[in-house]
Amino acid sequence: MNENKKSPEESSSVSDENLPGILSILPVLDMTLFPRMVLPLLVWQEESKRLVDDAMGKDRVIGLIVSKKKKSDGPYKAEDMYNVGTSAMILKMAQSDEKGIQILVQGLSRFEVIKYTQTEPYLRAEIKPVSNTVEKDMEIDALTNNLVGMFKSVLDLSPYLPKELGALVKSIDEPGILADLIASSLNLSKEEKQSILETYDVKKRLKNVHGLINRELQILKLGQKIQSQVKQDIDKSQREYYLRQQLKTIKEELGEKDEKSVEVEEYRAKIEKKGLPEEAKKEAERELNRLARMHPSSSEYTVASTYIDWLTTLPWNESTKDNLNIPKAQKVLNDDHFGLQKVKKRVLEYLAVRKLKPDTKGPILCFAGPPGTGKTSLGRSIARALGRKFVRISLGGVRDEAEIRGHRRTYVGALPGRIIQGIRRAGSNNPLFMLDEIDKVGSDFRGDPSSALLEVLDPEQNFSFSDHYLDVSFDLSKVMFITTANLLDTIPPALRDRMEVLELLGYTDDEKIKIAKRFLIKRQIEAHGLTKDLIRFSAPAIKNIISGYTREAGLRNLEREIASVCRGVAREVAEGKKELTHIKVNDIHKFIGPVRFFSETGIRTATPGVVTGMAWTPAGGELLFIEATEMKGKHELTLTGQLGDVMKESATAALSYIRSNAKALGVQEDFFDNHDIHIHVPAGAIPKDGPSAGVAMLTALMSMLKQKPVIADMAMTGEITLRGQVLPVGGVKEKVLAAHRRGIKQVIIPKWNKKDLEDVPRDVVKSLRFHFVDRMDTVVKLALGTVSVK
Ligand code: ADP
Repeated sequence: MNENKKSPEESSSVSDENLPGILSILPVLDMTLFPRMVLPLLVWQEESKRLVDDAMGKDRVIGLIVSKKKKSDGPYKAEDMYNVGTSAMILKMAQSDEKGIQILVQGLSRFEVIKYTQTEPYLRAEIKPVSNTVEKDMEIDALTNNLVGMFKSVLDLSPYLPKELGALVKSIDEPGILADLIASSLNLSKEEKQSILETYDVKKRLKNVHGLINRELQILKLGQKIQSQVKQDIDKSQREYYLRQQLKTIKEELGEKDEKSVEVEEYRAKIEKKGLPEEAKKEAERELNRLARMHPSSSEYTVASTYIDWLTTLPWNESTKDNLNIPKAQKVLNDDHFGLQKVKKRVLEYLAVRKLKPDTKGPILCFAGPPGTGKTSLGRSIARALGRKFVRISLGGVRDEAEIRGHRRTYVGALPGRIIQGIRRAGSNNPLFMLDEIDKVGSDFRGDPSSALLEVLDPEQNFSFSDHYLDVSFDLSKVMFITTANLLDTIPPALRDRMEVLELLGYTDDEKIKIAKRFLIKRQIEAHGLTKDLIRFSAPAIKNIISGYTREAGLRNLEREIASVCRGVAREVAEGKKELTHIKVNDIHKFIGPVRFFSETGIRTATPGVVTGMAWTPAGGELLFIEATEMKGKHELTLTGQLGDVMKESATAALSYIRSNAKALGVQEDFFDNHDIHIHVPAGAIPKDGPSAGVAMLTALMSMLKQKPVIADMAMTGEITLRGQVLPVGGVKEKVLAAHRRGIKQVIIPKWNKKDLEDVPRDVVKSLRFHFVDRMDTVVKLALGTVSVK
């Protein structure tokens, strides 16, 4: 930067006219001296020092010429120099250090080199002074005014120019000097300055400087704009930062710690104490460091702290110790549940294996059966027997994979999936985890939850289960999973493969009475604040509740009705009754209203054309009545009762079989030419499907055609072929149990299904008369008694 200043007083005694014809030339690298300006110079080259010394001894006048060289390497040569320079007077000289001397020079006038007369020990040249040609006119006035104005603006914007320059510039009335002063003040390259020096014509010089100052102004304005924008941005965040910092300092001064840092410290301690696995610890610390930089009221802060909460409260290392005392476990299971021998046996086997080989992977059991058969409560009891924590989640209606696996943290309000939530609730990493209603998992555009469940249930994968929210894997391999289902068919095959299915069939009336006496009544008495001395149920009363008020495979409604009775008694006790209430058959309607279900089989099948079929639903076995009737018409077949396609086809097949074998079956052959047939299956509002009613439909048609009612307490199931064969069907066990509950005495089932009876309780099998059939003609004969078939 040139620190040019106009000399305070015109002390020079040398003028253009008496300038010597030959000048010693001091080369300078990049400092341009303009006439009248003062410039400090550091002289350190030997030949230059000698030049200054010599000049000081004489008239102190030297010539300054800028070198074209980019840097000073070695002595300057004549050809390196520009042709135009400034003559100068050395005002002061001082030794700066051992290397160089400091001189202060003042410019006198421009000159041109005519020729160099000497190069050793320093350059000397014959010169010709150049005088400025000035002719003041209006244009020059305008240019000078303009320049002064613009220079003022430059001064306002520029951080490096002293403001006093403004007043100085104003006071100069020589346009050429003004141009020189401004040029020397601006941030110009040495070439630009040299070109101003070489412009002798004042008007031209003013114009050139005008151009340069204009450019400088633009640059300064742009710079300022950028600066102010950056400053604005910084200001906003800095302001907040400063305020917060101040607040922190004030609090510290007052001896209070701010809430956030307390919280951050707490989290840090928690992470340390918890002993998280490496991966989780890294993630927790990363989030904590982010948290420390956030404002506590920001939403991100809450997200981060919730996440750390999750990481630090999950039971990564906490586990419970299994109770491997088998007789004790057996006692717990028997104390809680009646029967269910197969399941109990399997659980005890599992315990035995764990005792012998502790690191075995647990099986994944699936309890399948109708509602109310004790699947959930059995799970709870197994947990108690094993000494494990129990958690249960219901998968009914889960369609979104994220419900199992959680949402990524980038979602607003994201949380871990149900598995991880369940684990946290359990508080141990080896709970008994019950996945209820696994058969009701759906899938749609939100992804397939069953694929996530596969990962959960696969012992090969679940040691590193990944939840989207946690983002670090959790080891589920110690968890004992038990699933429950009503139906096995709707479970995706891959999932079903991983599970060991244990069927819970439903209970017979006798079993229900026993369970009620031993468990349900006791539990309800307690739940209603009663005691054995205040209420007692008679056995016939319990039986009456079961047959008259419930129609189910499980025990839900029975328990509910018992609860209703207990409620009624509790009210009487609360109103002051002190003596024992003995619930007998006749008292029941007082508490739970009139009887809801009658044994209707005999009554409904009393007319020809009605047959009792056996159906199977997710709620267990059921009886259904198939009705057939004929009317005048043109062999139309009408089917009603919300029948599915398969069931409709069975009906058509049954009719076709009869028509094609009409003669042999003793049916009038032209009967169908002038009759319509209608088959109806009540209850009409409930959808029904499946092939297993084929046998019953054919029998109903035969009974109608023969005008002969079927045997009253007989029920049947089986699929038929067009050739009259009877094929096996599913759900026979549940169907048989249902028939037994409803008072049926004879059952017709396909021969192939005989093996299914093995799982049906002995007393049920004993109390029924079974007919195993493989041909339709046998069925008809059995049901109607007399028909002979070819
Ligand atoms: P699910 O889960 O199969 O629908 P729950 O476990 O809810 O059935 O059982 C319904 C009720 O019946 C519960 O109160 C349960 O304790 C009781 N229960 C079911 N089976 C038995 C049994 N074998 N012994 C004792 N109580 C039973």
